[in-house]
Amino acid sequence: MGAQEVTDGFAALYGAAPEGVWAAPGRVNLIGEHTDYNDGFVMPFALPHDTLAAVAHRDDGVLRLHSADVPGGPVELRVADLAPGSDREWTAYPAGVVWALREAGHEVPGADVHLTSTVPSGAGLSSSAALEVVVALALNDLYDLGLEGGQLARLCQRAENVYVGAPTGIMDQTASACCTAGHALFLDTRDLSQRQIPFDLAAEGMRLLVVDTRVKHAHSDGEYGKRRAGCEKGAALLGVSALRDVPHARLDAALDRLGDEPEVRRLVRHIVTENERVERVVALLESGRTRAIGPVLTEGHASLRDDFRISCPELDLAVDTALAAGALGARMTGGGFGGSAIVLAEESDVPAITKSLEDAFTTADFTLPRVFEAVPSAGARRVG
Ligand code: ADP
Ligand code: MG
Repeated sequence: MGAQEVTDGFAALYGAAPEGVWAAPGRVNLIGEHTDYNDGFVMPFALPHDTLAAVAHRDDGVLRLHSADVPGGPVELRVADLAPGSDREWTAYPAGVVWALREAGHEVPGADVHLTSTVPSGAGLSSSAALEVVVALALNDLYDLGLEGGQLARLCQRAENVYVGAPTGIMDQTASACCTAGHALFLDTRDLSQRQIPFDLAAEGMRLLVVDTRVKHAHSDGEYGKRRAGCEKGAALLGVSALRDVPHARLDAALDRLGDEPEVRRLVRHIVTENERVERVVALLESGRTRAIGPVLTEGHASLRDDFRISCPELDLAVDTALAAGALGARMTGGGFGGSAIVLAEESDVPAITKSLEDAFTTADFTLPRVFEAVPSAGARRVG
């Protein structure tokens, strides 16, 4: 769906034209997994899939929200009544953004919003951040709030953490707000500094595939909490404020000190080596050696599978099959226990890899994955 369709949808719904149309993408994390709550490095890029919002301002304290992707008419809320935890529906994401803006002292007296999205929802590709960021950007423009991408991302994170009640890091919102086409975003989650890293695969004859396994294993939330607690324990035992502060060069010494804690040891090893992998990928991409990142991605998968232990049979099958069919590198991406894997491949190998994935998933009697190409795309912007 394009800007014209969402404009027409808005007019049909609210009986007037919107004042503009904005877009914000989903994201994939290239490397840097579970490092965000350890003050470490992440490196997402924006998907070509966007959430689009047609929006008009209102002065009467009313917020009307509608999504073409959810059955039913517009939901009408009063901005003065918005309160964290009060909404368990999809509307909590956009309402949370309005709440967070107002909490931060910005004048947002109401709005009419109509949106639609091509970001696969619940696939670990961050449809929630796309939804938050598109609304934040629209309100920023309409009410002249003067906020830049990083500030919008922090307000959106607050909306998701406090208003929706989902404990996410800062990566997803920053990726959706700040990525640029042909680049990945190197983000330091400690000081929030960021750098655009060239990642223009098409120009070099390569492709990046996303393999959405379409599974989400039920225990993933509890396992996330355990990993987080284990990382905190590791930092405490090593006397650092976050595992980010354990230098890769001193990893062996740190692991020796954790001899009595085999589980914490594995978690620490993943985080410390993962931060080093992000730095290696940045250095390779900045020196134009894009193909050489493949093995680093694959190393990252082994670390998530063996040390962090958050992979699952579907993700391992996707990675192993892609590599056997000639991929340059592959790894699971996102929180784990399902969701998506990414595959870096020569353009000419893509058909064979896709076919091998289909065959392998059929043979294993798994749900067929959804495989699509992810071109590193633009972050949030006005489109109409
Ligand atoms: P992910 O961010 O990985 O896609 P989440 O569970 O964090 O998964 O966010 C998905 C939720 O975001 C959906 O259940 C829905 O509430 C909301 N959402 C995302 N996109 C839309 C949309 N286009 N319309 C309405 N709600 C949406
Ligand atoms: Mg999400």
